[in-house]
Amino acid sequence: ALRVGIVGLPNVGKSTLFNAITKAGAESANYPFCTIDPNVGIVHVPDDRLKQLAKIVSPDRIVPAAVEFVDIAGLVRGASKGEGLGNQFLSHIREVDAIVHVVRCFQDENVVHVEGFIDPVRDIETIKMELILADMDAVQRRQAKLTGMIKSGDKKAKEEQTVLTKLMEEFDKGITANMIDFTPEEKELLKSVSLLTLKPVIYAANVHEESINHVENHSYIQSVVEIARMEKAEIIPVCAQIEAEIAELDEEEKGLFLEELGLKESGLDKLIRSAFSLLGLMTFFTAGTMEVRAWTIRKNTRAPQAAGTIHTDFERGFIRAEVVSYDAFTENNGLNGAREKGLVRLEGKEYIMQDGDIVHFRFNV
Ligand code: GDP
Repeated sequence: ALRVGIVGLPNVGKSTLFNAITKAGAESANYPFCTIDPNVGIVHVPDDRLKQLAKIVSPDRIVPAAVEFVDIAGLVRGASKGEGLGNQFLSHIREVDAIVHVVRCFQDENVVHVEGFIDPVRDIETIKMELILADMDAVQRRQAKLTGMIKSGDKKAKEEQTVLTKLMEEFDKGITANMIDFTPEEKELLKSVSLLTLKPVIYAANVHEESINHVENHSYIQSVVEIARMEKAEIIPVCAQIEAEIAELDEEEKGLFLEELGLKESGLDKLIRSAFSLLGLMTFFTAGTMEVRAWTIRKNTRAPQAAGTIHTDFERGFIRAEVVSYDAFTENNGLNGAREKGLVRLEGKEYIMQDGDIVHFRFNV
């Protein structure tokens, strides 16, 4: 499943947001360093198409796609040098596909700010700097190895060294790896170092519950918008407090509550959608009487690899995929109707999956 790490300074609302995610009610105390262990929470990817499919198929259960959120605490000024919880957070960030960077944009006298007052720009810079410093460490360690390899005549090592030198120059200017336009060859060379700042970032601007409706003229948010624009990153205004309240509601109540607030969608749903598009992901479905289920794959995935997300045996023994588009399926009241109209295709190994495809894989065991 897609893994997203939640980072940010202490007391910006990470745990509140994370609790909304898990509903598990883990601690959310007004105290820096209170969330020590990285926690993993799983949320469903909202997708109305599942309901429509279920109406037709009447399955025993519906299984939506899932996103894993990891609460990564301990990122403070000096963390890369061992401050706060020190370097623990680094390994957890290395394991995620994307980063949600929670930025405090809410005023609340009862909630201390580690730096004394609210300043989203400074906070973002602080976190970015720690990630850059961590990357610089990793790059320097790699460079030391490369020096030896170059001495023994390794051409590839020399090429890698050139890219890393370029990267270090950018790091010195405070520029993260995801902001640099690398060529495909350079990107390939960079794979030898697991760079934190290469990961796509979504800024979650955590606003006060009273501001969620007028984010356009909110100066804190606008300063985050400006940073996101420069970095070509995403920004989603959220109110962690409201997300926590929404998490307690059922589907119908949630709709009414959002309407009352004048919102189309919850911040969490927006985050999930944003992470999906940021990472170039899409969904295909399996629809049987046992279950109707959504599966997550990268765009441009071929049928056998898509089958592999269900089970490795499906990929290994792949013969064919029986494919019908979502529209053809729903407009013809299911597989049989679509088949009568000749809308069910048999696709082979080269078929590139399309968003919303409903698939039945045929395979050898
Ligand atoms: P973390 O250290 O980043 O995990 O921050 P927490 O989630 O523990 O939040 C710190 C404090 O800020 C808690 O007392 C929360 O209740 C409060 N808080 C978090 N989000 C909001 C919000 O959107 N509005 C308000 N008013 N308070 C919030």
